[in-house]
Amino acid sequence: MMTRIAMTHYRKATKQALIMLIAMVSFTGSFGSAEATEINIYSSRSPELVQPMLDAYTAETGVTFNILYLAKGMAQRLVSEGEASPADVIMTVDIARLSELDHMGIFAAVDSPILRSNIPAKWRDDDHHWFGLTTRARVAVVSIDRVQSDELMRLEDLADPRWQGRICTRAGSHPYNRALLASLVAHLGEDAATEWAQGLVANMARKPQGNDRAQASAIFAGRCDVALMNTYYYGLMKHNLEKTEQQDWAKAVRIVFLNQGDGDRGQHVNITGAGILDSSQNYDASVQFLEWLSGPKGQSIYSSINYEYPVNPRVMPDEEIASWGSFRADDLPVSDIADHADTAQRIINKTGW
Ligand code: FE
Repeated sequence: MMTRIAMTHYRKATKQALIMLIAMVSFTGSFGSAEATEINIYSSRSPELVQPMLDAYTAETGVTFNILYLAKGMAQRLVSEGEASPADVIMTVDIARLSELDHMGIFAAVDSPILRSNIPAKWRDDDHHWFGLTTRARVAVVSIDRVQSDELMRLEDLADPRWQGRICTRAGSHPYNRALLASLVAHLGEDAATEWAQGLVANMARKPQGNDRAQASAIFAGRCDVALMNTYYYGLMKHNLEKTEQQDWAKAVRIVFLNQGDGDRGQHVNITGAGILDSSQNYDASVQFLEWLSGPKGQSIYSSINYEYPVNPRVMPDEEIASWGSFRADDLPVSDIADHADTAQRIINKTGW
């Protein structure tokens, strides 16, 4: 509640600043509004993962930010705020959540040649309502000691009885797993995806629990041999200077890119992305911010600090990411993943993942 009040206050302040600016412009005849702008962000991304981008942008442009971190309840909040929402930019970590917001009709259609050029068509909305800013692969991580390099090749293999009692995962209903399963529904159909999920659950070493990093910790502790994980967590663990035990977790596992064989569909990936609210009072500044995020500087920071893959094909991934090796991504449009999210959730409920 405090934050809401704070943001409302900021917005008033911004309006006052704008009025003053307009007054100044009428005197001077020039316009430099970008320098005096504040952008309000609602983010389902952890603040520490977004802050480096914001700090760099502020240093370069003078534009400042108010960020409200909403792990849950973003959609409900935006519905209740309606047109009066103080938010300008919405940032999320998963295509299904981005798509859910898009279906509420809250995003402006952003016509930006820069965004179109920086972001390949498959990572953005056809109607220009949202834009992918990074990709992450949901890979398998396997024990470096207990799993051979060619033992696991495909996501489908995890339902094979050979992995009985050897798999750890977080809950199926987490958006990362739901999206992964939705991609399987899109490719194989609901029945085959259900069968796979049943096999996966039958092979688990323990009930689904914890976050992605907790699975690597369990492999380190010898409780299981294989887990599903978003790639950037591997980088974040390996280079964690505060919680140094996580470096040991990273050392205990190896990344396996799945479904890489000839004619196979490729590794499942998801995106983080953003949209600009139709009701935004800072539309132009918000577009410029997204353009910057999709450009060389924003993409490099995402890659070097968060270990995420750039969406912009002209930006090279960070050295650490490159060391994991290259892979072929599943070409399924991310919007198809969002379309099958409900079916995936039904399967998760039915199978107890
Ligand atoms: Fe995450």
